[in-house]
Amino acid sequence: MSIEQNISEIKETLPEHVSLVAVSKTKPIALLQEAYDTGQRIFGENKIQEMTQKWEVMPKDIQWHMIGHVQRNKVKYMAEFVSLIHGVDSFKLLKEINKQALKHDRVIDCLLQMHIAEEDTKFGLNEEELNTIINSEAFQQMKNLRIIGLMGMATFTDNNEQVRREFNQLKIIYTKLQKKLEGLTVLSMGMSSDYKIAISEGSTMVRIGSSIFGSR
Ligand SMILES: *Cc1c(COP(=O)(O)O)cnc(C)c1O
Repeated sequence: MSIEQNISEIKETLPEHVSLVAVSKTKPIALLQEAYDTGQRIFGENKIQEMTQKWEVMPKDIQWHMIGHVQRNKVKYMAEFVSLIHGVDSFKLLKEINKQALKHDRVIDCLLQMHIAEEDTKFGLNEEELNTIINSEAFQQMKNLRIIGLMGMATFTDNNEQVRREFNQLKIIYTKLQKKLEGLTVLSMGMSSDYKIAISEGSTMVRIGSSIFGSR
């Protein structure tokens, strides 16, 4: 199957309100270009250096999403161009993003990453930490970033009921947060193996890599 066929098959299954992030980490430019040529404009990367190298050579109408864990000292390399940062999970990181965005006279869109999986190796906030951040005076003073939603990853398991429960839990947190923060439109959940479950639980943005570009 070609990248073009993969994308078109996936798109056929996506409701209109769900956007597709093509996760291109580790893949060469030529494959990204193939996806671009089918009309795909949102690409997800998990390493800042790799994303920056690709941004430099690829067409400028691409929206680059940082989907991986972000080290604070590297925010400066993507602040000029990144379109959405999915994995924000600390106050210190928000502060750094705000500072670097200000330098470029930008407002950077971010998602707060929630910990919903059973595994404790995965990054993310719990609800209490989330509330502490959004209620803080310092957060409310950050004018160069905008929280537009939440992101989460379910446990890596073939127990679909567990995956569904975890996505449902994230959706509930998202709905509660919408009552406290204005402008939330993105619930980023679902990857190649579980995006259909994620969509049925309320996802508005799926991050799909291997089902488009092949395994890594
Ligand atoms: C790699 C990655 C994906 C895509 O995973 P696939 O299983 O290849 O679809 C999605 N989200 C995050 C955060 C990732 O790191």
